[in-house]
Amino acid sequence: MASINASSIDALSQHFPLCMLNLHRELRKDSHLKHYGRLQYTLFLKGIGLSLQECIVFWRKSFKLLTDEKFKSEYLYNIRHSYGDVGGDANKRGRGYTPYSCQKLLTEALPSGGQSHGCPYRTYSPDNLVALLQNVGINDRELLRGVREDVGKQRYHIACNRVFETTHKNEIKKVKDQSLWPASELDTILHPNTYFKRGFLLKN
Ligand code: SF4
Repeated sequence: MASINASSIDALSQHFPLCMLNLHRELRKDSHLKHYGRLQYTLFLKGIGLSLQECIVFWRKSFKLLTDEKFKSEYLYNIRHSYGDVGGDANKRGRGYTPYSCQKLLTEALPSGGQSHGCPYRTYSPDNLVALLQNVGINDRELLRGVREDVGKQRYHIACNRVFETTHKNEIKKVKDQSLWPASELDTILHPNTYFKRGFLLKN
């Protein structure tokens, strides 16, 4: 994968799972994200290979309504902390924190009051979820019907995998037909960073 920098994130967001794409869209809409959304998104970006320096550039440019002073005093520390550049206990120093798995995102407290973190398959009502999927270009009626059914049974990550498999069906067929990947590389997705990596590799 080519090296990732702050200015590549907009283009790469087409490969993001809905949890991260939703944060990216909210960030672009408001030029801001609340604390837990920032943390979730920062760790994901770290996991896809964005360096600390580029991550700082990304957030600084994204928070374009803030002065440099406010950015430095209120936001910079937390970004550096996620990467293990400052604070934390000794064994996190230098490494920082691990990107969140689907299980973590599916079991944490629900967002409220303008927060956008978590997994939208769980945090959105079925109608709002379908509207969000349509907004990001997913209009296949059969797929949306399946998603409604999955989330109705609280099978949130199955709904997410259903979306992945449908939106990558030609590429998945090709790697299966030609045995290009080991079968384990196509196991059920359980981590947002796996969703990104697999989607990126399939499409490129
Ligand atoms: Fe993100 Fe996992 Fe939810 Fe998919 S199931 S949107 S990857 S948290």
